[in-house]
Amino acid sequence: NGSKKVLDALEKHMGEAGLDVVLEFRPEGHGDGVRVSHSGCQGFCQMGPLVTILPENILYTKVTADDVPEIVAETLVGGKVVERLLYVEPRTKEKCLGPDQIPFYQRQTRTVLKECGFIDPDDIREYVAHGGYAAARKAFADMDAKGVCDVVSQSGLRGRGGGGFPTGRKWEAARVQANPKKYVICNGDEGDPGAFMDRSLMEGNPHCVIEGMMIAARGIGADEGYIYVRAEYPLAVKRMRKAVADAEAAGYLGDNLFGSGQSFRLEVMEGAGAFVCGEETALIASIEGLRGMPSPKPPFPAQQGLWRKPTIINNVETLAQIPRIVSEGAAAYRALGTETSPGTKTFALTGHVSNTGLIEVPFGATLREVVLNIGGGVTDDRGFIDEKGFKAVQIGGPSGGCLTPDLLDLPLDFDSLRSVGAMVGSGGLVVMNQKTCMVSVARFFMEFTQRESCGKCVLCREGTKQLLALLDDVIEGRGTAETLALLETLGHAVQVGSLCGLGKTAPNPVLSTLKHFRKDYEEHVFEKR
Ligand code: SF4
Repeated sequence: NGSKKVLDALEKHMGEAGLDVVLEFRPEGHGDGVRVSHSGCQGFCQMGPLVTILPENILYTKVTADDVPEIVAETLVGGKVVERLLYVEPRTKEKCLGPDQIPFYQRQTRTVLKECGFIDPDDIREYVAHGGYAAARKAFADMDAKGVCDVVSQSGLRGRGGGGFPTGRKWEAARVQANPKKYVICNGDEGDPGAFMDRSLMEGNPHCVIEGMMIAARGIGADEGYIYVRAEYPLAVKRMRKAVADAEAAGYLGDNLFGSGQSFRLEVMEGAGAFVCGEETALIASIEGLRGMPSPKPPFPAQQGLWRKPTIINNVETLAQIPRIVSEGAAAYRALGTETSPGTKTFALTGHVSNTGLIEVPFGATLREVVLNIGGGVTDDRGFIDEKGFKAVQIGGPSGGCLTPDLLDLPLDFDSLRSVGAMVGSGGLVVMNQKTCMVSVARFFMEFTQRESCGKCVLCREGTKQLLALLDDVIEGRGTAETLALLETLGHAVQVGSLCGLGKTAPNPVLSTLKHFRKDYEEHVFEKR
């Protein structure tokens, strides 16, 4: 988006203005110098590139390199605000000085994203200065494996990768295995269209993920781990590799960690682009050098995983929650969220909404809060429209379902969403306005899953192809009432007859749009629109 040009221009013009420019983090402070720091994602994607000026907490939006001389002269030297670069709230038309005044930030609870966008992800010293690796020290120096698993179980943490399985239970299942060789894997193979939460975390705060993995290793007794990142995320791969090397050099990875006698080493692996490799058993096969195809469970990876050794696989966001749980305790973690879905969840908010970006809210926040308040309301080609323009939200990517306007006050948590036939999934939220054709939305996701089917099961391999062909029939005016009935029957058959989550959930967008937006289908079929 041009952020690098803005960064270079800041360095240049600040130097020319005679300011003492500090380019590196100094743990002892920066004296009279003005530090220019690059950060990871601040979440407010629609408004980037962003420049935050601290400690005044001024946020400039959509900054270009041409704006920089004015920022330096007016704000950094003159102490005045450049009004034209401030964010304007679409409903009230008021200018907001900084994150404290911007509803997009004000209404969020950023815990896992707290440092994301504020610390330099390439500088381990900055992570340590913000309390980083203190939780790992506590886990290795003061706790045993059972103690670590217990605190994670008591926190009620559930996996953020889609299924919501209790993390503590998964760790405990691996901990009790007698095999002395165990592995920890971080699943960074985020591939849902519209999802970029894990990418932002790996790019914005890679050490937090590493620290979560170290604590997981302590919990199950592992001495080796892999960070599996999709190759389409080259910056995440680069930052994770650098973070691993820096953590090794600083003694956070290696032998006898914190005097515990336990070793832990990490390797970053790139996925080759298959969506199905986000499934645990396919991911393990991929690391082993085999074709990434799911296999039946049991045995579960916690019993027999990588190289047939006990293995836990956790999603990036799940692992990034761990340091806070160990530092602050289970009760503090449970203070946010709901009884059965404690803590917070990051969502990638995209589509027809004023503020697209990466957000974090406690579980239990409503769809209204997320779409209308944090997201700033629904938009069309002409800009902001009111809530009457809201048609649906696709939650959970290609495996998820649609939420309709009557569900605006539904709490977003694992169980409430399941009760209406949707799922948290990995956290993609695609907002759609009244002009959106839901048959085309279903087709978009079906094309994606059909292309990504690994081909092992007949119903997933052939069924998704037939579902796609039926959707084409509807859209291209060849559909009949029988086509709609076939879509439903085949959709249910693919759900039942597929081995892994990809196939089992592939028909969800079709079935959910058929249920909630049948009129869109009928318009194609009976009115031949
Ligand atoms: Fe492969 Fe689909 Fe079967 Fe999963 S359900 S194993 S993706 S064919």
